[in-house]
Amino acid sequence: MNQGTLYVIATPIGNRADMGERAISVLKQVDLIAAEDTRHSKILLQHYNIDSSMLAYHDHNEEQMTPKLIQRLLAGDNIALISDAGTPLLSDPGYRLVKTAHEESIKVSPIPGACAAIAALSVSGIATDRFMFAGFPPHKQGARQSFYQEFEHQAATLVFYESSHRIVASVKDMQLVFGAERKVVLAREITKLFETVHSSTLGELPEWLQADNNQQKGEFVLVVDGVEVQMSPQSAELEQVLKILLEELPVKQASKMAAKITGMKKNQVYKLALELSGK
Ligand code: SAM
Repeated sequence: MNQGTLYVIATPIGNRADMGERAISVLKQVDLIAAEDTRHSKILLQHYNIDSSMLAYHDHNEEQMTPKLIQRLLAGDNIALISDAGTPLLSDPGYRLVKTAHEESIKVSPIPGACAAIAALSVSGIATDRFMFAGFPPHKQGARQSFYQEFEHQAATLVFYESSHRIVASVKDMQLVFGAERKVVLAREITKLFETVHSSTLGELPEWLQADNNQQKGEFVLVVDGVEVQMSPQSAELEQVLKILLEELPVKQASKMAAKITGMKKNQVYKLALELSGK
C-alpha cells in the first residue's frame, strides 16, 4: 500500500479570511488532522465546514503521539498538521513529527500561509536580505539578557516573538544589550482590529509603550536591525587595491596581484574581485 502524506498547513494569525483555498480543500480531504489545540481549531474548521477527524498533537504529548501518527502515515493515511495560529513548527509544535517523517521517507508537503514573523518582516522597512528568526526570549530577566547577548554582534536582521506580559521588560533588556540607537519595528496584532506597526529606536520604544497601556496588549513581533558591519582596515585596503588593478587587468590577474600585495588568501581576493567587477 502507498504511504500517506504529512501536510504541514498554515492557518490564519488573526484574520480568518487569510485561510487559503488549498488549506481548506486539503483539510477536508485528509484522514486525520493533528491539531495543537483541538477545541481552538474546531472553531476555524467548523467555519469552513471541515469535519475531518481531529486529535491533539502538542508539546506535552508529541513523544507518545509521534510514533502513532507515523504508523498511520506508513499505513497510507494522509495527515494534516496545524497549530493554533500561523505556520506549524515556527515557535509551535511539530518538529519531532516532521523530523521522524523524513527519517521514515514519508512525503512531507507544506501548504503555506500566514506566519507572524514573515508578515512583520515584510512591513518593517528593515533589511530583509538576511534575517534570523530567534523566536521567544526566555521569561526571566537574567536569562533573557544572556539570550539577547547571543545576537549582540549579529549583522542579519533579528526577529523575535514576545508576549504582552513581558513586552516592556523585554524591550528594555534589548535596549541594554543592543544599545538605544538600534532601529526596531514593533508589529502588534497583525491582521487584527488593532493592528499596529510602529517604527522607532530601542531607546524610544519603552516610553512609547508605557505611554499607552493599549499598546502593551495582544501579540507582538519585534524586528530589530542587525549590527552595521564595519569593514576591517585589511579588507578596505584590499578593496582599494583591487579597484585600481581591475581598471587595467582581467579579474584573474588582478586577484593574483592583489593577493600578493596584501598577503590575503587567493580565493577570498578572487571572490571580492568578482563582486567588484559585477561578474
Ligand atoms: N506559528 C505562529 C506563526 O507562524 O507566526 C507563531 C506561534 S507562537 C506560539 C505565537 C506568537 O507569535 C505570539 O506570541 C506573537 O509573538 C506571534 N504572533 C502570532 N500572531 C500574531 C499577530 N497576529 N500579531 C503579532 N504577533 C503575532
